[in-house]
Amino acid sequence: MPTSEQRVIVVGAGVVGLTCAVRLLEAGHRVDVVARDLPLETTSAIAAAVWSPYAKPQEHVVRWARSAYDVFATLCEDESSGVVMRTGTELFREAGGDVWWRDALPPGAGPDQETSLPSGYASGLTMRTPVVEMPVYLRWLAARVEALGGTITRMNLSALPDTDAMVVNASGIGSRLLGADHTVAPVRGQVVLVEQVGLDHWWIESETPTYIVPRSRDVVLGGTAIEAEWSRTPDPATARTILERAARIEPRLAGARVLRHKVGLRPSRATVRLEREDDVIHCYGHGGCGVTVSWGCADDVVELARG
Ligand SMILES: Cc1cc2nc3c(=O)[nH]c(=O)nc-3n(C[C@H](O)[C@H](O)[C@H](O)COP(=O)(O)OP(=O)(O)OC[C@H]3O[C@@H](n4cnc5c(N)ncnc54)[C@H](O)[C@@H]3O)c2cc1C
Repeated sequence: MPTSEQRVIVVGAGVVGLTCAVRLLEAGHRVDVVARDLPLETTSAIAAAVWSPYAKPQEHVVRWARSAYDVFATLCEDESSGVVMRTGTELFREAGGDVWWRDALPPGAGPDQETSLPSGYASGLTMRTPVVEMPVYLRWLAARVEALGGTITRMNLSALPDTDAMVVNASGIGSRLLGADHTVAPVRGQVVLVEQVGLDHWWIESETPTYIVPRSRDVVLGGTAIEAEWSRTPDPATARTILERAARIEPRLAGARVLRHKVGLRPSRATVRLEREDDVIHCYGHGGCGVTVSWGCADDVVELARG
């Protein structure tokens, strides 16, 4: 039975695995990350990624997201992290739209009623949140793992490691195999990256879903949320509707140069699985909010590793 400051093998090098690895290393454990896909090849690299709570159980998601907000708010002071704080608006077709996760926002961050809404929307909530430029941030996280003495190795596993070490299963959709869990399933998300046209305000309309997320050199436009769809090939017709919907919200996007098309498979599950089973801690099934809750989940993983 592993005790504190033991060897831990983290399976998965997406945002969840790397964040767990950082926190475990900071707690004094010896950590090796193994993954079939290295950080920039993961679903995490495709995330938009606005801090925006989603998924269940809601009471834990609020807690995890709240603590991750605070970590990101600190990280934005380090330019190399790829984290910035941006103002943005959650849009609603109906009047009086609201979010269930208000308590995840710190005092002063909003949400406030937006006065100037794009046409077609009856209400909106404006708030200040972290926006994470994932390719930059994943590099930063990987460097942090290595600076703390951890390792990251490519390894395609057919089962969780059979070892004396503690294992953290952060394999996302791979938990269908590694966790023998068929309740985790893909929710396909397609995005279009366009040139930066001087935007700094994010917009999300969850229903469609439609989102516009400005980053340092490009803008991420989304999206789709198609359940149980495994294809990672971008669909040209979908890309056209993504561009049209985005330009209706932000007219400056009309005619913006398209840089790339991407598809990611969100690891969706009825509830996030964060629990310990003997010497395996499962942490997967974060659906569309793995970035948003990452630091809060990693803190719970460290707690579970203790006891
Ligand atoms: C288009 C899109 C937009 C998104 N926008 C947001 C957003 O705005 N905000 C937000 O918070 N989230 C967003 N998300 C969701 C977010 O990307 C996910 O919740 C998050 O990436 C899940 O991280 P993860 O580390 O669990 O999984 P992944 O990033 O998928 O990493 C899983 C890791 O496990 C490894 N693995 C799997 N199987 C095996 C195996 N058999 N052997 C070895 N290794 C294995 C993989 O190789 C990989 O390294 C978005 C997702 C998409 C697709």
